[in-house]
Amino acid sequence: MYLVAANWKMHKTVAETLEYLELFLPSVKDIMKVEIMIAPPFTALSSASIKLDSAKKEGEYNVQLGAQNMYYEDKGAFTGEISPLMLNELEVDYVILGHSERRHIFGEKDSLINKKVISAVEHGIRPILCVGETIEEREQGKTLSVVERQIRNGLAGVERDMVYIDIAYEPVWAIGTGVNATPQQAQEVHRFIRSLINEISRGNDEKTRILYGGSVNEKNARELIKEPDINGFLVGSASLDPQRFYKIITEVMEV
Ligand code: PEP
Repeated sequence: MYLVAANWKMHKTVAETLEYLELFLPSVKDIMKVEIMIAPPFTALSSASIKLDSAKKEGEYNVQLGAQNMYYEDKGAFTGEISPLMLNELEVDYVILGHSERRHIFGEKDSLINKKVISAVEHGIRPILCVGETIEEREQGKTLSVVERQIRNGLAGVERDMVYIDIAYEPVWAIGTGVNATPQQAQEVHRFIRSLINEISRGNDEKTRILYGGSVNEKNARELIKEPDINGFLVGSASLDPQRFYKIITEVMEV
């Protein structure tokens, strides 16, 4: 099933999160064909979790909750970090790991991201491992080798657990820039990722979605989702508006 995920980054207070869900949830009631995920900031996770829970008691919703990051230890002296147990308590379903902003602004390396991926899988939280090349790497023809390194290192030790993991291909040059990868550029990398995860998981990758992320919006979603190896989207800016996010979901539903 396609997955369309919203990464709100450092946007929206608790009040704004609830206001968004109030508008958004009725529009996606009974949409079962596409799985939807929303990743608000940590401070709004608890309220969002309660809101989603009560909506699910009243109707059919295929809307899951995601965190934007987590640390790999259960507890301890790690000031400012959030543990998988804390996410479990809030019934968080997904966690975005290795986002390019974590890699490039906060200096996260493959080895740290790998520990987080392992921990998420162990705690029953589905990681979305983000990978992608910078513009310099693309220009030097290194796109596939960078993506391969990030995937092999990020998934080391959990290759056999591929059924519990999703991947997001997010070229760094396309994130938040308004310049998306063309469907052909994205498909080329997605096809490569599919064959790579098929190889490392020994064929157990059929439940793994490969999402595209990078300036996805309601206008380019249709062309991108037509590509055979694009299994959904990770959406930043355009997910901040409930109507735009809903429109992207409807484009995916029509495939
Ligand atoms: C993202 O941050 O994951 C992302 C894809 O952002 P945007 O859609 O704004 O490019």
